[in-house]
Amino acid sequence: MTTNKTDHGGDIRLSGIAKTYGSFTAVHPLDLTVPQGSFFALLGASGCGKTTTLRMIAGLEEPSAGTVHLGDQDVTALPPYKRPVNTVFQSYALFPHLDIFENVAFGLRRRGIKSVKKQVGDMLDLVQLGEQARKKPHQLSGGQQQRVAVARALINHPKVLLLDEPLGALDLKLRRQMQLELKRIQTEVGITFVHVTHDQEEAMTMADTVAVMNAGRVEQLGSPTDLYENPRTTFVANFLGTSNFIEAEVDSKSGDDIVLKAGGGKLVLPEARCGAATTPGGKVLVGVRPEKISLTHADDAGEIPEGRNRINGKITNGSFIGVCTQYVVDSAVCPDFEVYVQNVDRDTRLVPGADVVLHWSPAHTFGLDAAQD
Ligand code: ATP
Repeated sequence: MTTNKTDHGGDIRLSGIAKTYGSFTAVHPLDLTVPQGSFFALLGASGCGKTTTLRMIAGLEEPSAGTVHLGDQDVTALPPYKRPVNTVFQSYALFPHLDIFENVAFGLRRRGIKSVKKQVGDMLDLVQLGEQARKKPHQLSGGQQQRVAVARALINHPKVLLLDEPLGALDLKLRRQMQLELKRIQTEVGITFVHVTHDQEEAMTMADTVAVMNAGRVEQLGSPTDLYENPRTTFVANFLGTSNFIEAEVDSKSGDDIVLKAGGGKLVLPEARCGAATTPGGKVLVGVRPEKISLTHADDAGEIPEGRNRINGKITNGSFIGVCTQYVVDSAVCPDFEVYVQNVDRDTRLVPGADVVLHWSPAHTFGLDAAQD
């Protein structure tokens, strides 16, 4: 495909963009920059305002306040068709009576372009449908139809492609394939993709940067790794996987670390990974991802290396789920605390009722403001 990689329109800048419907605020004033050429995901639960935000970028929704810039150009007042932006929706909206070639050629023909063969051919090759050009949409699978929709949106060389839950209608296996496929296409064409999804795994697989939205606000913005490793709120921590939380209180500082009191024990947290006040007496919600935790039978506790966070517990449940065994542990320091532990060596003594020590590296610990929610 012959995309001009030198002019991709610049960053998308949303400044104070907001949307209200009567007295209801769907999107609170929002400042957001989507870097040119990035694969950017707006991630959140149903109703959090992600589609509204996308539609304001497209020009399909008029903002109640704020501006939308594409590079240096203020596009806030431009109608959708005058913006260098195209959108792919969940419903592919292909023309059923036209074959795949003509569906993709449609945008070119509408602009009066006569010789479309090469462009459409290149585009069908890009989405790996070169062999299907003369089929009708109903003769293709859902994933193939979605790729036609992407080809049709890309044929006019938009500077930004907006994708509104484009994989929502596909079954899980096809969705996984299409995630990789869309990522490959984005890398190849090099333009900015903004992708709306409620599926955290989808956002993590595809996007360079993810904006996690909650109730009309961006709760946290970052790379998938950063959001997973350093969530700043319980919402983000829970939305992007399973987290264990321990209520703790700041005891003291030790170099770059904070020492916390939790029940009768102590936990260490790097100060840089703490999103709460670090003064002694401050309340911190300590989080740790299940797969970062190791489980050792209490009889072998002496073998646990120095410097690891540890809490005592009793196994209440264990289930083998293929790649790992998932344990539920009642913690001795926090009576209602349960832990799902993965990556544990097989040990026939790790059965319900067994006394165990849960231990993990301080580097895999994060701290949240206990008063935030
Ligand atoms: P979903 O994944 O279900 O599409 P979303 O995060 O994309 O959800 P939006 O479609 O942006 O959410 O909607 C945000 C909020 O604004 C919702 O509560 C929705 O009901 C409300 N809303 C959207 N459009 C309108 C409208 N035209 N009039 C009134 N309320 C609206």
